[in-house]
Amino acid sequence: MVVYLVGAGPGDPDLITLKAIKALEKADVVIYDRLANEKILKYANGAEMIYVGKRAGKHSKKQEEINEILLKQAKKHDMVVRLKGGDPFVFGRGGEEVLSLLEEGIHVEFIPGVTSAIGVPTTVGLPVTHRGVATSFTVVTGHEDPTKKEKQVKWNYNADTIIILMGVDRLKKNTEEIMKHKDPETPVCVIENGTKPDEKIILGTLENISEKNINPPALVIIGPVVDLFKDIQKNMPEDQA
Ligand code: SAH
Repeated sequence: MVVYLVGAGPGDPDLITLKAIKALEKADVVIYDRLANEKILKYANGAEMIYVGKRAGKHSKKQEEINEILLKQAKKHDMVVRLKGGDPFVFGRGGEEVLSLLEEGIHVEFIPGVTSAIGVPTTVGLPVTHRGVATSFTVVTGHEDPTKKEKQVKWNYNADTIIILMGVDRLKKNTEEIMKHKDPETPVCVIENGTKPDEKIILGTLENISEKNINPPALVIIGPVVDLFKDIQKNMPEDQA
């Protein structure tokens, strides 16, 4: 009768926490989305596995359906793990699931994960803050149509570093909007499939990044820290760069 909401990290299976592994080892059932790396599931020895993510060509299950499944499993088993990519509370709809479980009196525990928003830049050597260069960063969803009248997403254009998740589809519109507040020459780094074997880094500027061939999942990092990243790369020993 306890549900652990667990972050799986951004992709590399070694980037999961020890606490998450311990929870998986004890789980009776694991409810998971499409994970960046399914190797993580091997820790859940013998547990029942329930997939609630997207199927090829089909939509993912509706959030209400997932909430229902969670509730049903929580009533049936002692130990349920709800596993989500990155950190469960960063654009993962973890809060909605937790609220619906709490409403039914289910006990919930939380285990954070390395979010792609910061973890992916760090694994390539891109600092999201740097003294004298960037003293703030913002993490924002790029999913909302920026021309929509009733905007929900609040962009913090003043942040020194802007990190966009789910930012591929609307990259052109979003960068046009950002250019109203920042120099078009501001450097941009896109990291596709971060921490995975097919990771790809694409560099550009606010003005030209949307013309490049970019595929999801990807992170978009905007700001002077991208120049710092280029310096760090230049100074890395050849076998590491
Ligand atoms: N809870 C997750 C984010 C879910 S939203 C977390 O904390 O990381 C999904 C978005 O995250 C993707 O559209 C992409 O922008 C980003 N993302 C997740 N994994 C990624 C990866 N390995 N490389 C690049 N971006 C990633």
